[in-house]
Amino acid sequence: MSAKKTRRPAASGRRRLLALCLVGAAVVVALAYRFSRTDRNAQPLPPDALRGSNVLLVTIDTLRADRVGVYGSTAGLTPTIDAFAREGLRFDRAYAHVPLTLPSHAALMTADYPPRNGVRDNGTFRLDASAQTLALRLQATGYRTGAFLGAFVLDARFGLNRGFDRYDDRMRGGGSEIEIAERRGEQVLTPAADWILGEQSAGPARQPFFVWVHLYDPHEPYSPPEPFRSRYSGAPYDGEVAYADAALGGFLGRLRSAGALDRTLIVIASDHGESLGDHGERTHGLFAYEATLRVPLVMWSAGRIRPGVFAPTMRLVDVAPTILDLVAAAPLTGVDGRSIRPFVAGERPYDDPGSYFEALNANLTRSWAPLTGLLREHLKLIDLPVPELYDLSSDPRESTNLYARAPEAARDLKRRLDAVTRAAPAARSNARIDADAEMRLRSLGYVVGAASKRPRTFTVADDPKRLVHLNAALDEADAAWSMGDANRAIALVEAAIKERADFTLAYDRLAHMLAASGRRGDAVAVLEEALRGGHADTPLLRSLGTLLADAGDAKRAASVLEPLVAQDPSDLASADALGRTYARLGRTADAETLFKRVLTASPNAVATWNNLGALYMVANRSADAADALRQGLAINPDSAIAHNSLGVAYARLGKIDLAVAEWRRALELRPGFPDAEFNLERAGK
Ligand SMILES: [Zn+2]
Repeated sequence: MSAKKTRRPAASGRRRLLALCLVGAAVVVALAYRFSRTDRNAQPLPPDALRGSNVLLVTIDTLRADRVGVYGSTAGLTPTIDAFAREGLRFDRAYAHVPLTLPSHAALMTADYPPRNGVRDNGTFRLDASAQTLALRLQATGYRTGAFLGAFVLDARFGLNRGFDRYDDRMRGGGSEIEIAERRGEQVLTPAADWILGEQSAGPARQPFFVWVHLYDPHEPYSPPEPFRSRYSGAPYDGEVAYADAALGGFLGRLRSAGALDRTLIVIASDHGESLGDHGERTHGLFAYEATLRVPLVMWSAGRIRPGVFAPTMRLVDVAPTILDLVAAAPLTGVDGRSIRPFVAGERPYDDPGSYFEALNANLTRSWAPLTGLLREHLKLIDLPVPELYDLSSDPRESTNLYARAPEAARDLKRRLDAVTRAAPAARSNARIDADAEMRLRSLGYVVGAASKRPRTFTVADDPKRLVHLNAALDEADAAWSMGDANRAIALVEAAIKERADFTLAYDRLAHMLAASGRRGDAVAVLEEALRGGHADTPLLRSLGTLLADAGDAKRAASVLEPLVAQDPSDLASADALGRTYARLGRTADAETLFKRVLTASPNAVATWNNLGALYMVANRSADAADALRQGLAINPDSAIAHNSLGVAYARLGKIDLAVAEWRRALELRPGFPDAEFNLERAGK
């Protein structure tokens, strides 16, 4: 990228080409902020210096700060981010609040910590429909708003779609495993650039854009495309980082050539890092050490943000208030975050409010002790049965627990932490079984809820530090499974359950493995054992319902799934599973209602379009089937099964040429696909 600055001419005598940072009166700020020599005479940035600018928010999932060049990596993985960081404002100590994708983005978008915005985990939480967000604010200010997502975990159904004119969550992943679906960076960025440039040229009245692009590539599985795969064959995570950065470079280059970056504020951040083995954690979500909590964060706007580095703590909840401040939009009120602009500009001396964090997935999915904590100045408290206190200035790797040695400091942080958690309601997961559902399930002989609802005190034995080996065992089982060693995978998960009987997630995993190995009866037995032990949650019951249906007991399956759908209409995964079950029972109208409900809330749910198509096929509604399948293929054109089914629908409608084209396409996508071969043979092609 060019080092040249495009400076806006001074307007009405006011100097507006200024940088965020200012000169320094306040000692803290002067120490905190290094800025380039050329801009030393710049004046303070007025709050509206970026008024009306476009806003481009880039989040790169799972990007660990120390893999980025300007954060100290010498591997050269991130030339794009580095270039923008050198021309922009880099936050050296930026922190996420949850090492998980949906809750971290929810905190960024709402400017509220998870206890207040209510989104505590992936999959089983959704952002409340009354929540105010960055997108809603900018939309109300007159921005065109578009979001382009890289993974199902940010699907519209989880509530971050509000405020976006376009919410592109079309995933190309296949089959029924929609929940792991993702798409490559370029598949996210190409439609985003098309949308930005299309909107830009449309109409005479210039309307600024707010676009959020989310690149999921560095998230596991680590399988970068060539040439990154070969270049980083020994470090595939690094390869994904390098790929994401290169894809971003291509995207920004295209926008720059089209002039779309001239009046644009770019914010590049990550939602959390990746442990890569630190503290015994392979990926992220269990702990909240620096590897996953500290994130890269850069703000850039040509000629309007002066290059520099902001050293004090910056929180992801501060991002939205800062953006709104910079573009002079109405602030989000009563939120945990604040605009960092006055501190960067030197208008106010920096005071550290502390940064809250939590990692509750292990608590919610396996009954381990809940992890919360607070980071302030250079001290970090992790509040667990075995509490931890670290001085990050002298011990950035968090190897020396100072908790016993510094009780005063620990108490101070604990007071501040309690103030955050006390002000908010307890985590309320949609995975919890409500009283009515509990009663209905009890009539089937399932005891749910009672045991898990018992108030419980967590002891040292429940500390995730003591249980991290079980996490590793589950990872090892997944690895064995993907290598085709089902017996070893199953044995590993069984051993984990033996050690920890309330390991809800492990029962679910085991049941899936057993079912996929053809042992459906054993799979059902495993889930029923978990239910008898009081370890059930919604995902586990949904798995049970699905398994029962697959095993031919659709009636009982419906009885398991119906209470889940009744207790939480926003639980689209259960609605989809019940729809498929009704389809098996021949209850076409009921199935259709459920599938349509899913598609209203999540229009790009490709598997549900395919399920609806299959339902219409069975009901001999070929034209409707063709419509639904075409909708699914518009979202994911790579599904051989959908192409084959669409071919059958066309054949039934007498459109043989169209049918043949679909079957041929199915065979291209999956050479040797027997159904497609059979259909072509029958058609004499
Ligand atoms: Zn993430």
